[in-house]
Amino acid sequence: MGKNYLGEWFNFDLNEETKQEFDVNIYRLNVIRAKAILKLLLVVDLALIFYYSMLRTVDLDKTPVKYFYMMSLFMLVLSVLFLLLIYNYGNKVTDNLSKLKVIGFFYIFSILTWCMAVTLLYQLTSGDVAVYITGTLAISILSIIHPFKMILLLIPIHSIFLILLPRFQTSSNRLFENAIITTVSIIVSFIISREFYKSKIEDFKIKKSFKEQNIQLTRANLELEKVNHKLEQLSYTDSLTGLLNRRKFNEVMQMEWERCRRYGIQISLIMIDIDYYKNFNDLYGHQAGDECITRITYTISHLVRRSSDIIARYGGEEFVIALPHITGDKAYEIAENIRESIEALKIPHEASLVSEYVTISLGVGTLTPEANLTYNDLIESADSALYRAKVKRNHTVSLEMQKIV
Ligand code: GH3
Ligand code: MG
Ligand code: MG
Repeated sequence: MGKNYLGEWFNFDLNEETKQEFDVNIYRLNVIRAKAILKLLLVVDLALIFYYSMLRTVDLDKTPVKYFYMMSLFMLVLSVLFLLLIYNYGNKVTDNLSKLKVIGFFYIFSILTWCMAVTLLYQLTSGDVAVYITGTLAISILSIIHPFKMILLLIPIHSIFLILLPRFQTSSNRLFENAIITTVSIIVSFIISREFYKSKIEDFKIKKSFKEQNIQLTRANLELEKVNHKLEQLSYTDSLTGLLNRRKFNEVMQMEWERCRRYGIQISLIMIDIDYYKNFNDLYGHQAGDECITRITYTISHLVRRSSDIIARYGGEEFVIALPHITGDKAYEIAENIRESIEALKIPHEASLVSEYVTISLGVGTLTPEANLTYNDLIESADSALYRAKVKRNHTVSLEMQKIV
């Protein structure tokens, strides 16, 4: 149990991959903070050096002052060195992560050691431990560091401090007092550091799960869009031929009719019906019937190719073609061309009463849309033409109706 409890203090259940990502994250932050702190230290240090330089040489020869001066110079060198290192490696955290970890460790180590050394020097004069306490607290608040590393840093430094303290502090009362205060501050620093680290991990986990949810949501949305698109397509196309279905044809036709009416454009419409198709199905089977429809569709689609033309499967074996801008004569020509092409396919049809091959009948209607007309008038016109064509079969009939009063 005890072991588990101790483990919990250092273990934050991040797997290897996430840990790497988290480390990159916190080291980015550490680099930014280190740059700021180092610059600040540099300025303070330069001010201190300037101050000591102002003192007379006599003062500088006094033991503690001399040491403080040396320590300031030492800090100057350290700050410049670490600034150079951090500027060199800090821009590419991902690539230099392991180097930055080592640099960070030694950076904190040297600052804490420096604080410790200065505090020991202070024992020769005022007996103050403020620098040591401030240093450890500042490190625990400003750097994000794994508690285990923090322990590795704090224990040896503090042990050395406690060992050396009696050599610098001669008053036993002060010695005892300082030992207690610094030990407590070290423990508090560790707890603060660990809490900061823990909260960073929690933040990271929340952000990560948000990110993952977002990705999943985006994926689901894309999937939904695809399905919607497919559904939309299915809702307006016929599954066997891929042509527009009757519902969609009516919708498109309504718009086209309005457009042609606005600009006074003539529209022709061809209605197509396969001859003796029931017989065909009965003789060759439904599957062959479907194939026949597919081949007819393919042929029609190749003959009617303008972007404004609308081809639709109007019923079982009925097709409709709307041809804006096309005159009745031209539409008749197109219809005849289609009829001949289907006949030329030479799809055997022994149950047909008019040919040995599959044939179609076509009715052509032409109208110029006017206010008192609807596109149904055009359909009816083509339908009645088809009805007439059906009398003979394998035939095209054209009805030109400019106006119905
Ligand atoms: P007509 O020459 O007068 O047009 O006679 P028809 O037999 O072609 O016309 P009828 O309306 O009597 O029969 C149409 C047949 O088309 C009935 C139906 O079984 C068949 N049919 C409709 N849709 C399909 C389909 O998608 N596939 C197949 N294989 N057959 C279909
Ligand atoms: Mg029919
Ligand atoms: Mg038919």
